Amino acid sequence: MNTSVKSYKAQAAVVRQVGGPFTIESIDVAAPRADEVLIKMVGVGICHTDLVCRDGFPVPLPIVLGHEGSGIVEAVGDKVKKLKAGDHVVLSFNSCQSCPNCAKSLPAYCYNFLANNFAGVRPADGTTPLAQSGTMMHGQFFGQSSFATYAIAREINTVVVDDKLPLEILGPLGCGIQTGAGAAVLSLNMQAGETLAVFGGGAVGLSALLGARAIDAGMVIVVEPNAERGKLALSLGATHVINPKETTDVLGKIKELSGGGVNYAIDTTGIPAVMGVAIETMLPHGTLALIGVPPPDTNLPANLMSMLVRGVSVKYITEGDADPQTFIPRMLAWYQAGKFPFDRLISKFKFEQINDAAHATETGAAIKPVLVF
Ligand SMILES: [Zn+2]
Ligand SMILES: [Zn+2]
Repeated sequence: MNTSVKSYKAQAAVVRQVGGPFTIESIDVAAPRADEVLIKMVGVGICHTDLVCRDGFPVPLPIVLGHEGSGIVEAVGDKVKKLKAGDHVVLSFNSCQSCPNCAKSLPAYCYNFLANNFAGVRPADGTTPLAQSGTMMHGQFFGQSSFATYAIAREINTVVVDDKLPLEILGPLGCGIQTGAGAAVLSLNMQAGETLAVFGGGAVGLSALLGARAIDAGMVIVVEPNAERGKLALSLGATHVINPKETTDVLGKIKELSGGGVNYAIDTTGIPAVMGVAIETMLPHGTLALIGVPPPDTNLPANLMSMLVRGVSVKYITEGDADPQTFIPRMLAWYQAGKFPFDRLISKFKFEQINDAAHATETGAAIKPVLVF
């Protein structure tokens, strides 16, 4: 650590009011503490959660969001062991490393997940490394706040990657892509030849498809109303695409295509009626993984007797059950072997175009925007 440097000048996309916009402003980023890492950002993806927080999910304002960052380590604190200046890294979510689930390598279910990812401050002492004209600025979003030219992360949520890889597009592996691929490969533990129905062909749903393909799954059916995304799903290895605008009996169609049902289903839509259909698509002992954000105060429309006679399960999952330190390298190994073309989901924008990029994902024009610094 370079102790002579007290802070670094950075440009950050700041949210000052609920609903946005992001405004590019100059801020100061403090030098890393003993257990922290300073990263010069190279790229950052925009994830649905960034926009949910911009639009009112309770985070303190003003704040610097961003949680799919990639970059190069510039400085490390005295207690950091596995990282050094110059390392190429992908940032992921933060976890406490002291609760029972962190001890079981289930950091996505950290008992202190909200405090470590959404509080806008360091949970230990309520401070933040970000400031503007001497006034504290909220940061530490997912332990990174990577909508900025410099970010402070921790060793635990910083993953070293091969410096021959295209660093500027790797950030989404730390959240959206990990969430989808992890759902298929880790949460559902899909095996070669097993079958899957994915509801919703956005970044997370298509990443679930890519994960299933990477482990040589059998039939993968994607249900998606956007015809362009349906075409992309087919080109990424979906065996079938169902457009619910054209096929009213989606359940009947899945049963017909699969000869009675699929082993697993993943819902990325958060629409209760869709989840209800997803439950009915599964063969005995199937599991439905829920990822989509539902409207508040809604219940699952499911017939319990139908679930009982098939012994099907339903579970909500976070971050694809992934431990980023092991799963990000695994996805990159698939990518390097030509089995995980996640780059085809990505559209690049300049950092300064963050509001245009956010709009492009909201309209469906971009599946996974990545801001390049
Ligand atoms: Zn924990
Ligand atoms: Zn995310």
